[in-house]
Amino acid sequence: MKGTFPVGKFNNIETPFYYYDMELLQKTLDSIISEANKYGYKVHYAVKANANKRILQTICTSGIGADCVSGNEVAACVVAGFAGDKIVFAGVGKTDKEINLALDNNIFCFNVESRQEIEVIDQLAKAKNKVARIAIRVNPNVDAHTHAKITTGLSENKFGVNLEMLPDVVKYVLTLKNVELVGLHFHIGSQITEMSAFKELCGCINDLQDKLQKETGVVVKNINVGGGLGVNYENPNQSSVADFESYFQVFSQNLKLCEGQTLHCEPGRSVVAQCGNLITRVTYVKEGTVKKFVIADAGMTDLVRPAMYDSYHKIENISSDGQEECYDVVGPICESSDVFGKDRMLNKTKRGDILAIRSAGAYGEIMSSQYNLRTLPKAYFSDEL
Ligand SMILES: *Cc1c(COP(=O)(O)O)cnc(C)c1O
Repeated sequence: MKGTFPVGKFNNIETPFYYYDMELLQKTLDSIISEANKYGYKVHYAVKANANKRILQTICTSGIGADCVSGNEVAACVVAGFAGDKIVFAGVGKTDKEINLALDNNIFCFNVESRQEIEVIDQLAKAKNKVARIAIRVNPNVDAHTHAKITTGLSENKFGVNLEMLPDVVKYVLTLKNVELVGLHFHIGSQITEMSAFKELCGCINDLQDKLQKETGVVVKNINVGGGLGVNYENPNQSSVADFESYFQVFSQNLKLCEGQTLHCEPGRSVVAQCGNLITRVTYVKEGTVKKFVIADAGMTDLVRPAMYDSYHKIENISSDGQEECYDVVGPICESSDVFGKDRMLNKTKRGDILAIRSAGAYGEIMSSQYNLRTLPKAYFSDEL
């Protein structure tokens, strides 16, 4: 089954470009909000997945908040319309300039990753006569069973404060006047498809809350479980909206929230992956001795995930109904890793055909680069064509 695309309209647009299905984005947002509302959970969209202005505005209009990992993301969210108190700011290396920008916008919370960072935030907040709300990111040592480059919750990763160190860091925070501890933050990885990983996270948080309460007497207001829900890259047409029902259910069934505690989460990929497609035109079909290569005008500079994470994206020839044949689909960049897919069955393909590289809305456009002095891909939206 192929996706449906306005191929006729694509003919007049210079390729490659990103095409966003805004109806699907809205459907996805509606699903997230109705499932989260069942339990009173708060959602912050992880902006790093896609910071395109229209996408951000649409997400902002839906009413959910934003999870940022740089000062520029905080600034982009403010421009897109997010209120300061809907923004959280994470990251292991926030600079003074970024912290000051976030303080000036009175953001909801800094997700902090070290004692050193807490000290700096306290000083910068003091200079502005403010009290910064912080949540400590804890490294729960939970294996997300995903690609090594997107596993973040193991003790060996650079992220967060290790479990054993947490009580001391909490006690330290209590001595400071310009930071207020409002939460604990966790994020175990990305493209997680086994709900058991989230279940394991819940168990870890339950134990940790017990331990923390015993050792420090502290009960925080917010528990932030991060992002990481995966999407179906193999069958984007079949499951175009991620399984938010099961996702939220796992937390409601396994996480023991204390009285007055609110659960927060930060989905990125699952919000935007399926609504985005990289549209590219075939420049050449090259017959090698053993393989046929489809050489597209898009490359790893437009979508780096296959080269960087070995990820799979479904590829469709949306301008051909011919017999299926086997091709390697590659880009024009001078790197052997510039391959979108090997041994793919595509309808018979010729020069000039248009391909859709599916599920490219997350970590696609935002990761594009100018390597080889390429032009950055533009974005088009289904409701504007
Ligand atoms: C990347 C990231 C997210 C979003 O992850 P997805 O897999 O895109 O849902 C959420 N929280 C933090 C802290 C992150 O680093």
